[in-house]
Amino acid sequence: MKNGRPDTTDSFRDACGVFGVHGVGRAAELVYFGLYALQHRGQESAGIVSSDGACVKGHKGLGLVSDVLTAEVLAGLPGRLAIGHNRYSTTGRTTLENAQPLLVNYQGGKLAIAHNGNLVNARELRRKMEARGSIFQTTMDTEIVAHLIAHSPRRSIEGKLKDALSEVKGAFALVMMTEDKLIGACDPRGFRPLCVGRLGNGWCLASETCGLDIIGAKYERPVEAGEMVVIDESGMRSSRILRSTRKAHCIFELIYFSRPDSTVFGESVDKVRRKLGRTLAEEAPARADIVMAVPDSSNSAALGYAEGSGLPFELGLIRNHYVGRTFIDPVQRVRDQAVRVKFNPVRDILRGKRVVIVDDSIVRGTTSRKLIRLVRKAGAREVHFRVGSPPIIGSCFYGIDTPSRAKLIASSHSVKEIAEFLGVDTLAYLSLEGLKSCVGRPGDYCYACFGECYPEPVGENGGKMALEGSCT
Ligand code: SF4
Repeated sequence: MKNGRPDTTDSFRDACGVFGVHGVGRAAELVYFGLYALQHRGQESAGIVSSDGACVKGHKGLGLVSDVLTAEVLAGLPGRLAIGHNRYSTTGRTTLENAQPLLVNYQGGKLAIAHNGNLVNARELRRKMEARGSIFQTTMDTEIVAHLIAHSPRRSIEGKLKDALSEVKGAFALVMMTEDKLIGACDPRGFRPLCVGRLGNGWCLASETCGLDIIGAKYERPVEAGEMVVIDESGMRSSRILRSTRKAHCIFELIYFSRPDSTVFGESVDKVRRKLGRTLAEEAPARADIVMAVPDSSNSAALGYAEGSGLPFELGLIRNHYVGRTFIDPVQRVRDQAVRVKFNPVRDILRGKRVVIVDDSIVRGTTSRKLIRLVRKAGAREVHFRVGSPPIIGSCFYGIDTPSRAKLIASSHSVKEIAEFLGVDTLAYLSLEGLKSCVGRPGDYCYACFGECYPEPVGENGGKMALEGSCT
């Protein structure tokens, strides 16, 4: 069970989106737009905290950005400094207490924290803190960072943060604020993306550059692995607070999670995905008439495959963009219907054709199987399935919600068996070498879900419900 619901995930679920603005009037409104652009990273809850220099206020709720952060709410969040968060839970249940930003009082004043990622030593740290008398109000790993900050003997918030972040292990891209400072920090491996932008004389921090674009901010650079940036009225200061051994940016940000119009880890997502498609066409050509994508996340890779193979790209499947989360995890009867609700084949394109379908990944295979049936029913003569990443055989512990290992089809089935299960004429995955050839610095990425070679020991990490206690 996940979150009290059956574990039916057939895709990797995004982590979270974080956004911050300093030095621009009506900062909360800008953060709202930033979160709006980052909505794909999390749809369970949304929140904003703002400061007018003296008073810090926040609002958060369950639901989409546009539902939670209404015009009335934004009018009550004044000031030139604000941060925000979109949540897809990777530790803790979907409850209002677990929504972010987390706003706490510490010795030095107020602190708000928005976290993207997952701490792998959360359970161990929390147990130690509870033994020393700490009381937790949420089941989020992020609250552990707040407690560590409160316990640090240092005077400055920068010093306290340095102490706190040197205790935690795993993945974090944090956007934080005090009454007058905006702070960003990334773990020493840089698992999750965070970037810096400029808006006039002001500054922004965002998970992806599409969040900067929507407010007209200019992309400056990524926040590096192990780096902390502190922004206040005197400008931005950067310091390397955590020693970076080997970077391990999540390769899935480029394959699937991030928007194609974003730059993450210094790479254009669209360009990388097109290269994935071209490389896949070289490695696994198909005798076919047309190439099509599983929209939208595979569009760029399918275009790349079409370029590489010389076959025409066609819109063989149309995605309904208005399907809400109700159709993602509902009861079995409705779930079987869900693929048809979300995708509709274009019969005139598919009838009598030999079709290459390009998808970014296969998780359980159940959704792909239903899609392939739809395409065949619409008249496709042959279906050749091509996957823009290697077979997924391991779960993620660094901030992406994945099914348990046993439910990942490639962990227990060969490519031939998966092809039979899907009902395709041929199936091919991109090789790991091919994947690595598509990024600028292949040594700087995490590929653990393809080979279970985890760059950061996962210890006794118990998954997203690790801090929920025995009631689950
Ligand atoms: S295990 Fe996979 S999904 Fe998780 S950080 Fe590594 S590459 Fe990304």
